[in-house]
Amino acid sequence: MNPEAPSLIFNIMRFATHDGPGIRTTIFFKGCPLACTWCHNPESQSFRPDILYFPDRCRHCGDCVAACPEHAIEERGGVLYTAGTCRRCGHCLDFCMAEARQMAGRPYTAAELLREVERDLIFFEESGGGVTLSGGEPLSRPRFVSALLLGCRERGIATAIETCGFAHPDVFLQVAPLAGLVLFDLKLMDPVKHQRHTGVANHTILRNLKALAGLRHPIKVRIPVVPGVNDSARDVDEFAAFLAPLGAPVELLPYHAIGAEKYRRLHRIYELKDTPEPSAADLAQFRGRLAHAGVNVTLRGST
Ligand code: SF4
Ligand code: SF4
Repeated sequence: MNPEAPSLIFNIMRFATHDGPGIRTTIFFKGCPLACTWCHNPESQSFRPDILYFPDRCRHCGDCVAACPEHAIEERGGVLYTAGTCRRCGHCLDFCMAEARQMAGRPYTAAELLREVERDLIFFEESGGGVTLSGGEPLSRPRFVSALLLGCRERGIATAIETCGFAHPDVFLQVAPLAGLVLFDLKLMDPVKHQRHTGVANHTILRNLKALAGLRHPIKVRIPVVPGVNDSARDVDEFAAFLAPLGAPVELLPYHAIGAEKYRRLHRIYELKDTPEPSAADLAQFRGRLAHAGVNVTLRGST
């Protein structure tokens, strides 16, 4: 794929503090080969732009319905639905004065993104921060991401990449180490549960993480702690058995239901809507079990 071709980006977040050291500018790529049941950014999953509908802002004026050249918008029971015939032209957005319709995903070239991040150089220098590539899955666009990481390097900007590790091993080992730090999101060890909750098997993911650790490249493994999905004693022991020999630091990310509303905007069902957030006691137990097995583990939000 041509690295000069634009890539779909669904957000550029400035002043981020959780995606690596210091103050970060985090670039969110649109499109992911996984579809985790707990994903709090469902608009990141499709490789196409998405139309988001905010029912609480809608005044039901009908202007978007009349404006759509594809007749793709239909009102049912006081809610607007967008049909599969929508070609993401964005025409209806121009007619919605209430901003109840928005497009997730805008194409950027690598050169445009480099211009965006250069604006934040002063914050990176003062805080020891830099740029983080996130998603979606940035490694789904390996040549584009390589160009971006090398462009940052030329400008003296530190980089991190957040990845689920699901990429061809050759691509993974060629591109991921171009970032100064790899934030590796590890979801589940059990291959059957991994398939069930992410849509893909985890053999390649585990192989890639092991190979990267073997290169002694800076890695932080991040585990989302999702009650009822990956927090049983058996799950934790499987994480420990795999991670302890790797020696990479691990951060636990407590599950939050903050994405539930986004599923509604996309007219999608949120499968984990009844899943509670993990209690402090459960998180302490998860962390303690890993630490006891020799894993260097921290919990986001605590010391
Ligand atoms: S993006 Fe275009 S095709 Fe889709 S609903 Fe809006 S106007 Fe219709
Ligand atoms: S134009 Fe906006 S406010 Fe009017 S019906 Fe469409 S979404 Fe609702």
